[in-house]
Amino acid sequence: MIDDLPILDTLLGTIRDAVVLTDRTGQPLRVNTAFEVLSGFQETEFIGTAVPYAVAARETVASVVSNGAGRRTLGFRCAGGNDCHVEVTVSPVVPPAPTSDTDVAFVVLIRPADTLERGTAKARFGYDLLTGLPGRDLFLDRVEQSVLQTYRTGGSVALLMMGLDRFTLVNDALGHQAGDRLLIEVSRRLRQCIREADTVVRLEGDRFALVLVIADDDDAVVIAEKVLAAMNEPFTVEGNEVVLTFSIGIAIYPLDAVDGPHLIKQAENALHHAKSGGRNQYRFFARDMNRKAKARLELESRMRRALNQNEFEVYYQPKVRAEDGEIVGAEALIRWNDPDYGMISPTEFIPVAEETGLIGQIGSWVLLQTCKQNQAWQDQGIAPLRIAVNVSARQFRDRGFVDVVLHTLKETGLDPSWLELEITESMLMHDIEVAVEKMTLLRTIGVGLSIDDFGTGYSSLSYLGRFPITTLKIDRAFVADVDTNPKTAEIARAIIGLSRGLNLEVVAEGCEVAEHVLFLKTHGCHTVQGFLYSQPVPAHEFELMLRGKVLSAHHKDAPGTQQVLVGTTLIGPSLPA
Ligand code: C2E
Ligand code: MG
Ligand code: MG
Repeated sequence: MIDDLPILDTLLGTIRDAVVLTDRTGQPLRVNTAFEVLSGFQETEFIGTAVPYAVAARETVASVVSNGAGRRTLGFRCAGGNDCHVEVTVSPVVPPAPTSDTDVAFVVLIRPADTLERGTAKARFGYDLLTGLPGRDLFLDRVEQSVLQTYRTGGSVALLMMGLDRFTLVNDALGHQAGDRLLIEVSRRLRQCIREADTVVRLEGDRFALVLVIADDDDAVVIAEKVLAAMNEPFTVEGNEVVLTFSIGIAIYPLDAVDGPHLIKQAENALHHAKSGGRNQYRFFARDMNRKAKARLELESRMRRALNQNEFEVYYQPKVRAEDGEIVGAEALIRWNDPDYGMISPTEFIPVAEETGLIGQIGSWVLLQTCKQNQAWQDQGIAPLRIAVNVSARQFRDRGFVDVVLHTLKETGLDPSWLELEITESMLMHDIEVAVEKMTLLRTIGVGLSIDDFGTGYSSLSYLGRFPITTLKIDRAFVADVDTNPKTAEIARAIIGLSRGLNLEVVAEGCEVAEHVLFLKTHGCHTVQGFLYSQPVPAHEFELMLRGKVLSAHHKDAPGTQQVLVGTTLIGPSLPA
């Protein structure tokens, strides 16, 4: 019967009172939008799920219907557990008499019982009038929905309870209206920190909560830092600049709690610790997460210091012609010499720099350093060399990326054809149109583009032709046992063949033994890079190699001191570094 009546949808939608259509036992078959707004339940959730509040609300409706036609007032438990005082009118549908369980037998009309509740639209609708965010009434419901979702599909729920530190001071100093403005701006910023599917809730006053479904517990750290960073930007309220701090307590389901209410409790505990621990910080309920978060934060602040105090350095690793060992290019690789911890590997800090956004500054620094150095070598009369700089995903996606490259080239005077950018496959797959556009721009001015770690990413061979690239770099995983493992050898041969077909240069990284080079050379890959020739080395050492190369090319028969240097540091399959 219900499906036969498309007009029913229209009708239900136009009725401003909350309506529930039930079968003869009082089980709901349909509800209208007004009911969803009043109760905070979505139709599917109210009708068909085991969410405890939905079950309780269904039981209320069924019990009212079982008393037959008529009007009475009662308490109705909405989503999130808020009790609403309502007037319910039950009318039987006549005729025809219902014959099956799916026939609508009763129309249940629900209205808020008194004007008091009509006035507090806030409570009724479940949404906060000031910020438009879901309010406390919907909070538990959202938490439970998320818990239910991850229970079914895996992942975790991160609950972030947040409070503005000393918000009352703002209210007292600037007045309530300013305070309200501030809260609106806070909620706008919070919404920007999360994805569409996540929920921001305003609990009361200056208390907010975020409910996030995350794949990895560490993601909660990323969001918490994002929130703190967003809140630390000064607010302008009625001409006044206001600086706020925020405390955040985080609990994670299923790590910290068995259900929604428990999760809320733990997040509140964590918030309490965050506030008493000095404010403007976040605290996890789980101690272990606090330790991890602290380590990350510490790494981040050390990276900032490293930038200011020149603790970073660019090393260079030669790319070599397999035929005769001549240096035909180089890759710039960042090094961090931390005064306390010594050399820190880029594989350790680049990912964190990516997440915190610091990669923008670090990446620009490497680019500038490399271009400046390359130009300096040319100015000294060393034969020009194309040097590759690694670009991380976030850096590449940044809207200003191409401008940074253009600006750097201009500032250093380096001819664009001596710069190459190494990017990875996966970062191109993100937004293909935009990626192609950027790459085309860079190619137009003459910058080389290579795909790094080829074969480890999405291996989207079909897309490869769409990108205006110049070079493929075979990942060192495929080089490592190319001479002993037939499968690897097959992949390496396929990549070489592919690059030939697409008219691309091909470079093999991670060449450690002469057998690697022999195989690659035999199968058509003539440019190689790896410890067999040289480790990445500081600029001054690389410069000696370059001068050596020039010498050895020009004075093959006249060994001098510098040629000896070539023999010891550069060319020599017998001399793994
Ligand atoms: P990548 O771009 O694939 O760089 C090649 C890595 O392989 C380098 O590690 C290099 O030292 C190492 N390598 C070179 N030859 C051999 C070899 O024969 N055997 C072995 N086992 N390894 C070899 P490194 O310098 O630790 O850098 C690691 C990664 O960190 C790089 O991988 C790159 O993804 C990233 N990275 C390094 N510098 C930068 C940078 O300035 N910006 C960005 N965004 N990422 C960087
Ligand atoms: Mg690279
Ligand atoms: Mg690589």
